[in-house]
Amino acid sequence: MHEECGVAGAVTPGRQAARPVFFGLFALQHRGQEAAGIASCDGRAAYIYKGLGRVAQVFDEDNLRPLLGELAIGHNRYSTTGATQLRNAQPHLAETALGPLAVAHNGNLTNARALRRELLEAGIGFSSGSDTEVILRLLSLPAAGEEGDPWIARIRRLLERAEGAYALVLLTRDAVYALRDPWGFRPLVVGELEGGGWAVASESSALATMGARFAFTVEPGSAVRIDRAGYRVYELAGGRRRSLCVFEYVYFARPDTVLEGLEVHAVRRRLGAELAREAPVEADVVVGVPDSATAHALGYAEAAGLPFAEGLIKNRYIGRTFIEPDDELRKTGVRLKYTPLASVLAGKRVVLVDDSIVRGNTAGPLLRLVREAGAREVHLRVASPPVRHPCFMGLDMATHDELIAHRLELDDIRAHIGADSLAYLSHAGMLRAVGAGAGLCDACFSGDYPLAVEPAAPEGDALVGEG
Ligand code: SF4
Repeated sequence: MHEECGVAGAVTPGRQAARPVFFGLFALQHRGQEAAGIASCDGRAAYIYKGLGRVAQVFDEDNLRPLLGELAIGHNRYSTTGATQLRNAQPHLAETALGPLAVAHNGNLTNARALRRELLEAGIGFSSGSDTEVILRLLSLPAAGEEGDPWIARIRRLLERAEGAYALVLLTRDAVYALRDPWGFRPLVVGELEGGGWAVASESSALATMGARFAFTVEPGSAVRIDRAGYRVYELAGGRRRSLCVFEYVYFARPDTVLEGLEVHAVRRRLGAELAREAPVEADVVVGVPDSATAHALGYAEAAGLPFAEGLIKNRYIGRTFIEPDDELRKTGVRLKYTPLASVLAGKRVVLVDDSIVRGNTAGPLLRLVREAGAREVHLRVASPPVRHPCFMGLDMATHDELIAHRLELDDIRAHIGADSLAYLSHAGMLRAVGAGAGLCDACFSGDYPLAVEPAAPEGDALVGEG
């Protein structure tokens, strides 16, 4: 029960901040489609609106207009629990001794259970089982060294105590705070808004939609305080292994996002090119699984000297199968989502390029579609290494057994999905394509976790990640 989410925030002197936050969430829709919410503050009261569904389904003029104030944060939720409940939608808002506090979280705490136990024993009550509420409650408690900005003292304590992935935007009475865990698993950037003010978003591509220009990346272990007068950066926790999630490059982030100075689309082309060099095949045409593997397929085709063609047409009005709530939906979703183009595929030897294989539920039905359209051979090429280890830092793959590459050897996977041949990109090839110096987490491929991780929650455990 782990998720990947999108967060946004804005401080807009003289204007309503909820509006750019809405557009930021809209641009980050790919990071979560099950719920959306915005919290705002006008210096006196806090306002909040949350709903189930996509941003454009949740918000309209009537519910956006009452979100008053020059400060706002927002959240897109991506859940795999099946329990898509409004009470789990974010931001979470609470009243504290320092005034309102709202939290929007992208990531997953790996020590949430221990922190929760500690807070319960200290007499703090919880209204949900979420790790975001653990963050909210911890931030609500006074910390040592509150003489300056008390929120910064509390954020420092959070950074010292909380382990795992948390890119956060916080809303208080007077400021918006943006912070990243000391490992920097999830991205977070700040931009300058046209017309004054500042914007925060999970991905740089969302800044343009918010009417902002990229200004800087929130560094791991640091916090940015933004108010009506400007911003200030606090470096609060250092010394951890820099660990930006490599899956952001492989699949998650938008292609037009720039992470650590690298455009995601360009990285994906390089992943495809490396794959072509490592795993060439005699073929007539290269087809990518749209839209996420289109860039990888282009890179493969260029490096292999083969024509690239659109052989699968995607219905863009259906959510990404990877983030639908259960395996049955993932299987049946393939036919709803893709239709093959016979004019491209019939009689051809096809290289089908996908960005990754996690559970292996999509690849088999996709290959069948390509064959039904008349392809003579289908060679599957995967532009990342086999996913053999679960992610505890917020990606939806919580147990070893869910991962097809953990259960089966390469040739068994090939037979299972019905490909004429199957090859994955090597680990070294992936690092070459991304740039190994970037400071990446690649634990789901390598098993080398940047921090100690708790085993999966037992059946019935109330604690869920929801960021
Ligand atoms: S384990 Fe994989 S998905 Fe999770 S943070 Fe690391 S690279 Fe990303």
